[in-house]
Amino acid sequence: MPKLSIVVPCYNEQESIPLFYPAVEKVVNKMPVEVEYWFVNDGSADKTLDELRKLHQQNPDKVHYVSFSRNFGKEAGLYAGLEATTGDYVVVMDVDLQDPPEYLPIMYKYISTGEYDCVGMRRTDRTGEAKFKSFLSDKFYDVINKVSDTKIVNGARDYRMMTRQMVNAVLSLKEYNRFSKGIFNWVGFKTKYLPYKNVRRIAGTTDWSTWKLFKYAVDGITDFSEAPLSIATWIGGMSAFLSILGLIFVIVRRIIEPSSSAFGWASMVCIMLLLGGLQLMCIGIVGKYIGKIYMQTKQRPIYIVKEKK
Ligand code: UDP
Ligand code: MG
Repeated sequence: MPKLSIVVPCYNEQESIPLFYPAVEKVVNKMPVEVEYWFVNDGSADKTLDELRKLHQQNPDKVHYVSFSRNFGKEAGLYAGLEATTGDYVVVMDVDLQDPPEYLPIMYKYISTGEYDCVGMRRTDRTGEAKFKSFLSDKFYDVINKVSDTKIVNGARDYRMMTRQMVNAVLSLKEYNRFSKGIFNWVGFKTKYLPYKNVRRIAGTTDWSTWKLFKYAVDGITDFSEAPLSIATWIGGMSAFLSILGLIFVIVRRIIEPSSSAFGWASMVCIMLLLGGLQLMCIGIVGKYIGKIYMQTKQRPIYIVKEKK
């Protein structure tokens, strides 16, 4: 019987775990697979680890967990979970039941035919989410798909089932700044997307504020595209070009009408401030990339394990 590994990153999810496990068990018990769970406790401050220990004691062969020494972020959790799996197929799920387990048999049906390497879930709406947040999300997908060669499907969640071959490919990318949505697409392979309606969190609260999502979006774009660097070059080129035109205008005017002298220091100050601002912005863009190079060259581990069972 093929083995299905379920990877579940958890951060402060003490209320969700006791609901998640039976809900998933109910579904996978009817599937023709052997199942293993790999929960990742991402440095939770609540009783998440205790819940995981309890589950492991009840099902020592089936339920496993990796517990980090501190919070390393969901991306690191995913990496650790995927690394630990041994199954022929691996599925990544959130613990808050926003990734409905009912879809597992359908995903499995598609992937077990051998036609697809990956089956992902794509939500078709964002009910229960703030309008402004949804608007920003939509814009993010527009931008990243324009500037990056790696296409990212709008609404695609991290809820996806992959073959062992694809998991190994994902693990072979050892980059420190991990943007899974991009990585899953970057490795290629044939993916089938199944649409579904958004589901609200079963318990707890989301950890993603609009500001955190914005930073995540900027990281996604800079991880998968060099477009911001080109934009900086273009802005510089354009303003240099415009100032040459301005210079020619001033010289010609001086020749035609020698009495006209320089005037308008207020506009001069504005132009200087504008150029200064643009320069700082471009340095900031370059700095963002240098920062990423810096973090990568340190070769720090993606996560640190405190306990693994
Ligand atoms: N998560 C994590 N580490 C973090 C933040 C979140 O492992 O630093 C986990 C969290 O427990 C959940 C999943 O990642 O299982 C998705 O988080 P959340 O539900 O907050 O995000 P959303 O569903 O709103 O995108
Ligand atoms: Mg969630």
